[in-house]
Amino acid sequence: MADLSIAAACKRFGETEVLRDVSIEVADGEFAVIVGPSGCGKSTLLRAVAGLEHLTSGRIRIGARDVTALPPSQRGIAMVFQSYALYPHLTAYENMAFGLRIAKAGRAEIDAAVRRAAAILSIESLLDRKPAALSGGQRQRVAIGRAIVRQPQLFLFDEPLSNLDADLRGRMRHEFAALHRTLGTTTLYVTHDQIEAMTLADRIVVLRDGRIEQAGAPRDLYARPDTLFVAQFLGTPQ
Ligand code: ADP
Ligand code: MG
Repeated sequence: MADLSIAAACKRFGETEVLRDVSIEVADGEFAVIVGPSGCGKSTLLRAVAGLEHLTSGRIRIGARDVTALPPSQRGIAMVFQSYALYPHLTAYENMAFGLRIAKAGRAEIDAAVRRAAAILSIESLLDRKPAALSGGQRQRVAIGRAIVRQPQLFLFDEPLSNLDADLRGRMRHEFAALHRTLGTTTLYVTHDQIEAMTLADRIVVLRDGRIEQAGAPRDLYARPDTLFVAQFLGTPQ
C-alpha cells in the first residue's frame, strides 16, 4: 500500500482552477519530486497534503489514515518551507525543540531528539545561536532539523534550496540525498529546478498548469518524454 495517496485532487481559488484531477501515489520510503514551472500549483498541492489548504474535491491518505478532513497537527507530517520560518527570538536548539515542547514531550526526550538531529546535520556547534547569527545554509539545516526531531511519517519540502546560492544549493542537494539514505522517511519534495528533481527523485511528477503532464522514474522521463514540454523541461537534448 502506498504511504501517501492523493486521489483526484482539485482546487479552485474562486474562478481559478489551480489543481485539476491530480492523483499521486508515493510508496513507503520513496523520495518523490513534484517539478514544474512557477505558478503550476506545486505549493498548493503540498499545502493541501499538509492540511494548510482544503481541496475543492479529492481525498488524501497518509499511511492507513484518510487525512482529508484532519488538521495539520494530526497528519503525521513535517514541512520545510523555502523561507525556513524559524523563530528569530529562539536559538537553533529552541527552534528545533519547539514542536516537541508543544507536544509536551519530556525534557530528556527533547534533548536526545534535538542532539540526534543536530548530529545528522552537523550543526552541533550552532545550537546556541539565534537565526540572525546563522548563514542561509545553516538556517536551512536548522529548519530541516526541526522537521527531523518530530519523526514524521512524511516529509514535505517546498523549494527548500531556492533561497541559497548555486554553490550551496549543490552541496545541500547531496545532503538531502544523504539524509534520505539515513532516515528513509517517505518524502514529497517540490521544486522548479530540474537538476534537483533529476538527482534526488526516485520518482518525478511533472506538473503543468495544475495537471500531471507525466510521472515516472527520472531516467524514463529523460529517455522517453511523452510531450515536448517534459522533454524541454527536463532538458533532453533536442
Ligand atoms: P507554484 O508553487 O507551482 O509556483 P502555487 O501553488 O503557489 O504555484 O500557485 C498556483 C496558482 O494558484 C497561481 O496562479 C497562484 O496565483 C494561485 N494561488 C495560490 N494561492 C492562492 C490563493 N490563496 N488565492 C488565490 N490564488 C492563489
Ligand atoms: Mg511554490
